[in-house]
Amino acid sequence: MEEATFLTRFAKKVTIVHRRDVFRASKVMYERAANHEKIEIKTFKNVISWLSDENGLTGAVLEDSRDGSKENINCTGAFIAIGHKPITKFLDGQLEMDSSGYILHKENTMTSKEGVFAAGDVVDTRYRQAITAAGMGCQAAIDAEKWLESQH
Ligand SMILES: Cc1cc2nc3c(=O)[nH]c(=O)nc-3n(C[C@H](O)[C@H](O)[C@H](O)COP(=O)(O)OP(=O)(O)OC[C@H]3O[C@@H](n4cnc5c(N)ncnc54)[C@H](O)[C@@H]3O)c2cc1C
Repeated sequence: MEEATFLTRFAKKVTIVHRRDVFRASKVMYERAANHEKIEIKTFKNVISWLSDENGLTGAVLEDSRDGSKENINCTGAFIAIGHKPITKFLDGQLEMDSSGYILHKENTMTSKEGVFAAGDVVDTRYRQAITAAGMGCQAAIDAEKWLESQH
């Protein structure tokens, strides 16, 4: 909802395509988008293919998740926003994580495996910003250096 509302500053029209009719956005953000004159919300729809010509994107084919009917919409840009999921599957069974896949810190930035440090979006369930990730990266570098020194 936030990104769609932001895009109205640059686009003539913004179409939100969503596979259900329920949104996880806060009520106030949803209402701001739903009441915006440039925003159209299409619920129970999945994008099943993109349409293009030699100049780039021209539209999308949407399929209704209830009856399988299809419709084409015109668009020249597409932004995919399908939630936050840390890409930590490859660490399954190696580092302790919470039920959503966020890596857990044991002590400062050290993970459950001694000598392995984690920083940024893979551990941050709240802020997930460039500056907080970079700051935590610095913390992890300092912790790693101190840990290496302690090994001698
Ligand atoms: C649409 C969008 C807009 C945003 N806008 C802002 C903003 O305006 N301001 C702001 O502060 N933040 C913004 N953010 C958040 C910001 O981008 C992140 O918080 C920040 O990039 C997190 O840094 P990171 O180093 O933790 O992770 P990332 O930047 O995601 O870096 C992780 C890296 O690890 C790599 N990787 C993944 N798996 C593996 C693997 N198995 N092996 C090797 N490499 C791997 C990835 O390719 C990637 O390069 C935005 C994010 C998004 C998605």
